[in-house]
Amino acid sequence: MKPFAYVRPAALQEAVAAHGGRPGASYLAGGTNLVDLMKLGVERPDTLIDLTGLLSATVEETADGGLRIGAGVRNSDLAAHRLVRTRYPVLAQAILSGASAQLRNIATTGGNLLQRTRCPYFQDLTKPCNKREPGSGCGALDGVHRDHAVLGHSPQCIATNPSDMAVALAALGAEVDIEGPRGARTVPVTAFHRLPGDHPERDTVVEPGEIVTAVRVPPGPAGVPSRYRKARDRASYAFALASVAAVLDLDGGRVRRVALAFGGLAHRPWRATATEALLLGAEPAPDAVRQAVEAGLAEARPLRDNAYKVGLASNLACEVLDTLAQEQHG
Ligand code: SF4
Repeated sequence: MKPFAYVRPAALQEAVAAHGGRPGASYLAGGTNLVDLMKLGVERPDTLIDLTGLLSATVEETADGGLRIGAGVRNSDLAAHRLVRTRYPVLAQAILSGASAQLRNIATTGGNLLQRTRCPYFQDLTKPCNKREPGSGCGALDGVHRDHAVLGHSPQCIATNPSDMAVALAALGAEVDIEGPRGARTVPVTAFHRLPGDHPERDTVVEPGEIVTAVRVPPGPAGVPSRYRKARDRASYAFALASVAAVLDLDGGRVRRVALAFGGLAHRPWRATATEALLLGAEPAPDAVRQAVEAGLAEARPLRDNAYKVGLASNLACEVLDTLAQEQHG
């Protein structure tokens, strides 16, 4: 591993100053992804700025009944939190479907959002990768890309975002608080991760030196049905081939509120707004649900080896929405 300086600031602003927006500086929180990538030589910071103790590790109920989740909250603590389990089951389920218990015990909320793709070419220094080394090419494009994107990809990069938690947060309409050299700002989770375009080296809209400080989840009354389903190659400790986070609330047999987001299909969680628009106000009979889900995936552009993902995602979404509807029909 490349030698690096280790800095332990006493306050957040001190951390921002220590970073200074320099390309060689990296923030360290749980470290479950960063340290692995440093061992592989994919990440080569010259300075690590430890944020331990500087990020909020609490989940607070806000005045409007939503949640403010500190960026330092461990994934296992968030999934086990009473308000998350009762009001946002989709979020608890998504977190518990990711990684292993040991990793969830140390990984943070902010780090989960910032984790990098698990594209094997990105992690292999002997292979070309525009994300790791801009301009070097994309090894996955003509290589093994069964696990890669079917939506929103570019000729420069076809990687997927690996986070389960972010998919649930996208369905819940959450926002991310960010602080940096130019002050504080808040962005929707759906706009936090970028599509690759011509700059796949940039995963998110976070600027150099900025720190994710919290996630805000809008009010979610207890009992609004929501669910996360994930398809993967083995039952645990595997990333999504496709996943679905759904919220479905019926009133008099018609859809009063619906949100649907896909994971494993794109460089960011993919909110299926066309599906939501078709279902809102409609009776969610299985045929209507399938039609709406397929309309939402119509813009998919599968690659040579991953067309199966479109059908897989479609079936997952139909199954989750049908189940949520049936539970409310009694
Ligand atoms: Fe790199 Fe993206 Fe291509 Fe993977 S898909 S090799 S991350 S450029």
